[in-house]
Amino acid sequence: MTAPLVDVGTGTPAEFEAADLEGKLALVSSDTPEDYGRWIHRREKYNFAIEAGAAGFLFRNHVPGCLPPTGDIGGRDGPRSVPGIGVSRELGARLVRHCAREDLSGTLQVDCRAEQMESGNVSGRLGPETDEMVLVTAHHDAHDIAEGARDNGAGCALVVELARMLAHIEDDLDVGVQFMTFGAEEVGLRGSRHHVEHAALDRVRAVVNCDAIGGSRDLAVHTNGFDGLPDPFERAANSLGVPVNIKPALAPHSDHWPFVRRGVPGVMAASDGSDDRGWGHTHGDTLDKLDRRNLREAAVPLAAAVLDIATGEPPATHVDPAEIERRAEREGQVLET
Ligand SMILES: [Zn+2]
Repeated sequence: MTAPLVDVGTGTPAEFEAADLEGKLALVSSDTPEDYGRWIHRREKYNFAIEAGAAGFLFRNHVPGCLPPTGDIGGRDGPRSVPGIGVSRELGARLVRHCAREDLSGTLQVDCRAEQMESGNVSGRLGPETDEMVLVTAHHDAHDIAEGARDNGAGCALVVELARMLAHIEDDLDVGVQFMTFGAEEVGLRGSRHHVEHAALDRVRAVVNCDAIGGSRDLAVHTNGFDGLPDPFERAANSLGVPVNIKPALAPHSDHWPFVRRGVPGVMAASDGSDDRGWGHTHGDTLDKLDRRNLREAAVPLAAAVLDIATGEPPATHVDPAEIERRAEREGQVLET
């Protein structure tokens, strides 16, 4: 298709409101302005573009040298009708320059296919055969353009490493720990959603999900507003003398989310530092990008925190799912049903 190209900046709701996009191509950056208060996910920007009547969506990377980004923008039933593509920061910058100077039209030609695929979840268990259990999770799928080393081979490596470490002190666990890697996270959290639909959630003490991890030496732990849930991570950080950045806001974009949505205490353990994905979601997300020291530095406090969660009293209690809805509303998160 050929249509006028409109620069919508970083794609905040205000920027979309100010733009006339009916039948046009929306060009949006992958970053979020600091004063917005929370990160805006690609899928939200795509949805804003559709609501504004855009005919196409161009997602430009804001990270220099890190290639065109990809990522799911489909609905529950597969791809939606408005095509979307990723462009590199460098090409994006050129398009932005031209948009500022002249009325620019773009021709968008998308050659792709959507196929029926199969996926699966992998599970193992340590510790006593208790009714209650702690879940340690990551996702093993990636985008088919690269190995997915950072997103999320690193998280899977950490799940296996935590199992290896905790196996040495299995007798110290008061409740069982289930280690899982989910499939099909990148296309709508399908593996974890499937598990949540079939699991006895009242038996899950807490979920510790590893994603966007291994990119720096320090941990950021998203605790989704659960009182008490930061405690085991803070205790681990204090006893080991390492920093951990507790982020209490909802983080609705990885496999802990289907659990949290149902009121189960869940965290996403990620790398602290910049909010960009780096090589994640690009052709460059390959094994050579991982740093063993980063993984080791993440594994040690995480293992200590999981041991803490799996001993003694639970750090946090389950909440009514309606409470999660209220938190989302307060934070301006539009939750998909
Ligand atoms: Zn991921």
